[in-house]
Amino acid sequence: MRSLPIFVKLAGKRVVVTGGGTPAARRCEIALRCGAEVTVFAPELGGDFAGLEDDPQLTHVARALEESDVADAQIVFVATEEETADRRDYETVRRAGGGALVNVADRPDMCDFTMASILDRSPLVVAIGTDGASPIFGRMLKARLETEIPAAYGRLVEFAGARREALERVLPGAADRRRFWERMLEGPIAELVLAGQEDAAARAFDDEIGEFAKGVRPGQVGEVYLVGAGPGDPDLLTFKALRLMQRCDVVLYDRLVSEDIMNLVRRDAERIYVGKQRNNHAMPQEQISASLVKLAQQGKRVLRIKGGDPFIFGRGGEEIEMLAAHGIPFQVVPGITAAAGCAAYAGIPLTHRDHAQSCLFVTGHGKEGHVDVDWNAMIQPHQTVAVYMGLSQLDSLMGEFIARGASPDLPAAVVDNGTKANQRVVTGTLASLPDKVREAGLRGPTIIIIGSVVTLHDKLDWFGDGPNRNRTTAGEAAA
Ligand code: SAH
Repeated sequence: MRSLPIFVKLAGKRVVVTGGGTPAARRCEIALRCGAEVTVFAPELGGDFAGLEDDPQLTHVARALEESDVADAQIVFVATEEETADRRDYETVRRAGGGALVNVADRPDMCDFTMASILDRSPLVVAIGTDGASPIFGRMLKARLETEIPAAYGRLVEFAGARREALERVLPGAADRRRFWERMLEGPIAELVLAGQEDAAARAFDDEIGEFAKGVRPGQVGEVYLVGAGPGDPDLLTFKALRLMQRCDVVLYDRLVSEDIMNLVRRDAERIYVGKQRNNHAMPQEQISASLVKLAQQGKRVLRIKGGDPFIFGRGGEEIEMLAAHGIPFQVVPGITAAAGCAAYAGIPLTHRDHAQSCLFVTGHGKEGHVDVDWNAMIQPHQTVAVYMGLSQLDSLMGEFIARGASPDLPAAVVDNGTKANQRVVTGTLASLPDKVREAGLRGPTIIIIGSVVTLHDKLDWFGDGPNRNRTTAGEAAA
């Protein structure tokens, strides 16, 4: 992010505009809408100023901008539509010094700030910026949001805004108030406002506040969200995961949850790293479970976020057992498990009518370095085996397959950092894979996929530098 999006209060402040054409008129209009005192410098004003000219907050000065004109201005919009005049005005502002921020229309190199595409549902305002890279795209996105953000949202924000003080009087705690608003804004009172029944909504609101004033408080126990974050690509989160991530007071996370995903967690949430690296458990499992209980008992909404799916080699079950024993409410949100994510992004279907009718998920991380699995179940025809946590055992794993009768030519693959920008796929056979993986220097996390479905990778790889990438575009270009 190269620019800071902020909302500047302009009521009663001075804004200077130069130019008399359409871009200048638009800038005057928007500054006037914010309540600014606007002075426009231009030899004459064009047709777009019709209607604005009568505004008592707008002053027209029929000469070029001078240094002294910008002394007390907060913002200067240069929009003469003429390069030399734009540059002249820009330099005048610069020479004048002072604290005004300058924007020269269509000349990003002369801008202290860029203009956002604005979706106005006042007091709700959505501003979209592209850092000057593609204002058109910003406008397209705005058009899409126009249809998704109902006009009534503005009324809802206004309704809430008018009641902030009243609530503060009966609920002095900031956390209590946040919880109240989150419940209210998604609940029946908000529905009434959106349906246009503001009187009924106001009565319901007052009733609820009345309860608070009498000292009746909503339950103090928090809850725990056990959320699967998928294998890495943030686009693979579920809507529900994202919603709960945006709502938690505290988050417990580990190394498997990528930074891109952590950036989507509510910014104010407290972060607790309970990271695990193989053979290096930062916080023992029992302690994690005990923390979840303790935090929830403090009335917090606790997000326990995990890579992949919480119930697949994620010890999610153990974590919530203790919650259940303590009567703490919890929700479990499934995630895309690493095997499914890696297989999809590597173009290796886990089942396929010509290759495999079943798929087995196992962990290669056995006790004392020994791979502890049911080998009869592993070595079956027409089956795919996906091995989690198997990288360090790759040699013994492949060797054991062969020793127990699997063909050394059976295709096998390792997907490293699956679904992330740095995903790597190494394919081979039971016999050749360990050396190839060593050569590639893979670090993990990795999934090992064993079975003839691996041969489909050459044909179906589409992600990253896969051969099918841009196939359509290339085809279209050739056509
Ligand atoms: N609950 C997780 C698995 C946790 S066990 C899930 O459902 O995916 C951790 C193992 O998952 C890692 O050792 C690795 O085998 C696998 N894994 C997790 N993320 C991965 C990724 N992006 N690419 C490849 N393997 C991954």
